[in-house]
Amino acid sequence: MLQMVGKKISSANKALKALRKNGHKIKQVTVKREGKHRWYAIICCELTEPIFKFMDVSKSVGIDVGITKFVHDSDNHEVENPLFLKQMLNPLRRASRHLSRRQKGSANYEKAKSRLQVLHERIRNQRLDFLHKQSTIYSKRYDLIFLEKLRVLNMTKNHRLARAILDSGWVTFGSMLKYKAKKVMEVYSPNTSIDCSHCGHKVQKSLAVRIHRCDNCGLVLDRDYNAALNILQRGIKALKLPMERREVTPVEFERTRKQESIEAHDFSHG
Ligand SMILES: [Zn+2]
Repeated sequence: MLQMVGKKISSANKALKALRKNGHKIKQVTVKREGKHRWYAIICCELTEPIFKFMDVSKSVGIDVGITKFVHDSDNHEVENPLFLKQMLNPLRRASRHLSRRQKGSANYEKAKSRLQVLHERIRNQRLDFLHKQSTIYSKRYDLIFLEKLRVLNMTKNHRLARAILDSGWVTFGSMLKYKAKKVMEVYSPNTSIDCSHCGHKVQKSLAVRIHRCDNCGLVLDRDYNAALNILQRGIKALKLPMERREVTPVEFERTRKQESIEAHDFSHG
């Protein structure tokens, strides 16, 4: 055990040296073990960079989070939701079934228990890795990030959606963005998916309808893209920034209404 710790300490030492070399002042180092095999060194340091940075308002984005897609933003960039837990559900079920069949306290029981722990750890690490990558991309690309204020706790009362929501890690994504990006603002914005981002006309649609079609101005675009544009516009307005209206090029989807209803069917069973 001590030998293992020794190895980890030498790699943590390397990180400390690199930080000192860059002029950062180390305040505190904590070593933490998670699960059986993972060791973390948490390094607190005083940064030498200035806290106030120049912010380019034109580099702003609105982000809509979802279940089928992880995010869809106001620049029409979308990221699929990997749903790690869902992928791992069968191995997890198998592992916990194995565990329940073993006699408590036996060597096989301990083995099955540690197998289950390893699976849970793997899921958590995959998810954290994904969230770190995504939040880094956004905080590098944009100076101002607007998120929709989600009432996640309310939403998780719906059990069918609960697992998907918790699995998506939106809350963790938001807090990662908050410490990585220059400015993150949560916008309280009801009706982001109903209001037309171009003319403000209300277009009622159920959760299953994926396309926003405005009868008033003729805008046709992905429902989540429309929502992300609303989030961006409301954020800009809330900060009283000059509204440099980005013209949205309407995107024509080669989908028929019939295909939309097929998607709706898939969604309700996913
Ligand atoms: Zn419209």
